[in-house]
Amino acid sequence: MHNYFMNEALKEAKKAILIDEVPIGCVIVLDNKIIARAHNLKETKQNPVNHAEIICIQKASKKIKSWRLEKCSIYVTIEPCIMCSGAIIQSRIENVIFGSFDYKGGGCGGNIDISKVEKLNHYPTIISGVMNKECSEIVSNYFKHKRELKKINKL
Ligand SMILES: [Zn+2]
Repeated sequence: MHNYFMNEALKEAKKAILIDEVPIGCVIVLDNKIIARAHNLKETKQNPVNHAEIICIQKASKKIKSWRLEKCSIYVTIEPCIMCSGAIIQSRIENVIFGSFDYKGGGCGGNIDISKVEKLNHYPTIISGVMNKECSEIVSNYFKHKRELKKINKL
C-alpha cells in the first residue's frame, strides 16, 4: 500500500521535471483515497513556500473543507523540509511517509527531527525509506542532467 501511494507521489515528481522544477511530488490520502496531489512549484511561481507538501496540504484542506487533516497520510518523495514539517504539525496530519532523507533541509530526522522537539501539540508517525532508490534517483538524475546542459551551453 505504501508503495502504491509513493508511486503516485513519484508521478507528481515527474510532472515537475517537465517544467524544470526540482522533482519532488506528494499526495495526501484519506480513507485509502488520494484527496490531493501536488509537485514542487517554487521556480514556476517564484514563491519560496511553494513546496509540494504546502500546496498539497492547502488542496487537501480545501477538499475536505477543514484545516484539520487528522486522519490523513502524506506521501512525499523526499523528506519534508523544516517548513513543511511545521505545516504537517499545524495540519495534524497523522502519518508522514517519505522516500529519501534530506540531510541538509530535512525536518523529519535527516537534519532536524520534529519527533524529538518537545512540547509540540501534535506528533505525526513518520515512516522513511519507502521506494528510497526511485525517489532519490529522480532528484540526482535531474541535477546531473542540469549540470550536463550547463556544460553543453558553455561549449
Ligand atoms: Zn518543504
